[in-house]
Amino acid sequence: MIKYFKDIITGAWSLIRGLLVTLRNLFSKAVTIQYPTQKLRMVDRYRGLVDLRTEKCIKCYMCVKICPTGCLSLAHKENAEKKKEFEHFKYNMELCCFCGMCDQVCPTQAIYMNKMYEIAVYGRDKITHIDLLNTGKYDEWAHPTVK
Ligand code: SF4
Ligand code: SF4
Repeated sequence: MIKYFKDIITGAWSLIRGLLVTLRNLFSKAVTIQYPTQKLRMVDRYRGLVDLRTEKCIKCYMCVKICPTGCLSLAHKENAEKKKEFEHFKYNMELCCFCGMCDQVCPTQAIYMNKMYEIAVYGRDKITHIDLLNTGKYDEWAHPTVK
């Protein structure tokens, strides 16, 4: 009989303690965000997708040479004024190990790792043949509800 009442009191006390915790947190500031309508900015050292500032690239091929997985493909030609022009600059994200070596070695900070973390798309082709020269290449990667 004593155990029966003891159990009831213990149960009631647990319930009250739980409700007190709920009540205490009811008016405190939220520690989570409403993803995907809200997004966190990634930390400075975060390595997202490889991206390019085309106007800064001097076509030195340092990034291509240092890439341990061979996922960068660059080609250029010389125009009539002997200036280097891109033929293509492709990135295969499927092979990328996100080491950041291309970013580190680039003498002009043309190539860099952006802060994107929504890196899922429909279709394998979209990750194996990313055109770094296309400024809108990652537009469809961001969640559509996020501006
Ligand atoms: S992050 Fe590493 S693996 Fe990816 S493209 Fe750059 S050098 Fe290559
Ligand atoms: S290392 Fe930089 S400047 Fe050289 S080819 Fe790569 S992106 Fe262009």
